[in-house]
Amino acid sequence: MDYTCALTRLTDAKIEYSENTPLAPFTSFRIGGAARIAVFPKSCDEAAVVFDILRGESVPTVVLGNGTNVLVSDDGYNGAAVILSGLRSCTVSGETITADAGVPLTGLALTAAKHSLTGLEFAYGIPGTLGGAIYMNAGAYGGDMSQVTVSSRYYDLESGEVGVITGEAHEFAYRHSVYMDSSKVILSVTLQLALGERSEIEAKMNDFMSRRREKQPLEYPSAGSTFKRGNGFITSQVIDEVGLKGRSVGGAEVSEKHAGFVINKGGATAKDVLSLIDIIKSEVKQKTGYDIECEIRYIES
Ligand SMILES: Cc1cc2nc3c(=O)[nH]c(=O)nc-3n(C[C@H](O)[C@H](O)[C@H](O)COP(=O)(O)OP(=O)(O)OC[C@H]3O[C@@H](n4cnc5c(N)ncnc54)[C@H](O)[C@@H]3O)c2cc1C
Repeated sequence: MDYTCALTRLTDAKIEYSENTPLAPFTSFRIGGAARIAVFPKSCDEAAVVFDILRGESVPTVVLGNGTNVLVSDDGYNGAAVILSGLRSCTVSGETITADAGVPLTGLALTAAKHSLTGLEFAYGIPGTLGGAIYMNAGAYGGDMSQVTVSSRYYDLESGEVGVITGEAHEFAYRHSVYMDSSKVILSVTLQLALGERSEIEAKMNDFMSRRREKQPLEYPSAGSTFKRGNGFITSQVIDEVGLKGRSVGGAEVSEKHAGFVINKGGATAKDVLSLIDIIKSEVKQKTGYDIECEIRYIES
C-alpha cells in the first residue's frame, strides 16, 4: 500500500511521526516488529487530526497507550500505530478528574491522592494509560475503572464522529468495555471520586504497591497477567499446580515467581510467547478440564 499521501498530510499538519518503527520499545513485553508508520499526537485535538488523515487515506490503524497489555506480532503492523501516551492533560475539579487518554494510571492515582480523593487507589502500580485502562476495564485489589468512570470522549475511526459515552453505556464487565467491540478510540475520560483522608489513601496505595513488588516478576518484561481470572478457579494457581512454572519456549517463560505471568527472559519473540500460551492452555485443559482465556491483546496486520 502507498502511504505517500497520508505522510504528506501528517507532515503538513506538523504531526510527529516516523516510518518503519520497531514497536518493541513501545511495549512492556519488549517484543514486536515494526509499524509502517508510528504517529505521536500530543493532544486530543492533534489526535483527532491524525485520525481524520488516516481515515481519509484508508490507512489501517491501531492505537497503543503504554503497550502494557499487548503482544505485537514479529511481523509488526502494516499500517499506522498511533501512540497515545503523549496526550497528557489532566484537570481536577472538586471530586471530579478529567484527563486525556495518555495520562499514566499511576500518575493519576498520585494526583487523586494529592487532592485527598479516594477511589483510584487500586490503579496505583498498574503501568498502563487511562485510555488503555478504560478499554480493558483495568482493575486490581477489588477496584476497577467501572467504579469511577462517569464518561469518556471518543473518536470513531469508522465514521469520523467525535462523541461521548456515559455511565452504563460503557458496558463494563470483568476486563471488558464497549470499546473492545467498536472502532472507537478513547480521547479523554471523566472520573468521579470522593473526598477522603490523604494519609489513608496513600497508605492503601503503598500497601497495594508493595504487594505487587512481592508477588509479581517486575524485574522482567511482561504484559502483566497473561490470562483472565478463571470462572470458579484462580488461573495462576491452576497453572502452578499443573507444573508449568519455569516452562519456556525460546526466550518466553512461565514466571517462577507468579505462574500467571509469561515473561520475556531475553530475546523472546511473539512466536515464542504464542507457542508457550498454547502449551499452557492445552496442558491446563488436559489435566484439569478448565478452559483459560488470554487477557493480553494480540496486535497484527
Ligand atoms: C507488570 C504489569 C502489571 C499489570 N497489572 C495489572 C493489574 O493489576 N490490573 C489490570 O487490569 N491490568 C494490569 N496490567 C495490564 C495493563 O497495564 C492494563 O490492562 C492497562 O490498562 C493497559 O493500558 P495500556 O495503556 O498499556 O494499553 P495498551 O497495552 O497500549 O493497549 C491495550 C489495548 O487497549 C487498546 N487501547 C489503548 N489505548 C486506547 C485508547 N485510548 N482507546 C481505545 N483503545 C485503546 C489497544 O489498542 C489494545 O487493544 C499489568 C501489566 C503489567 C506489565
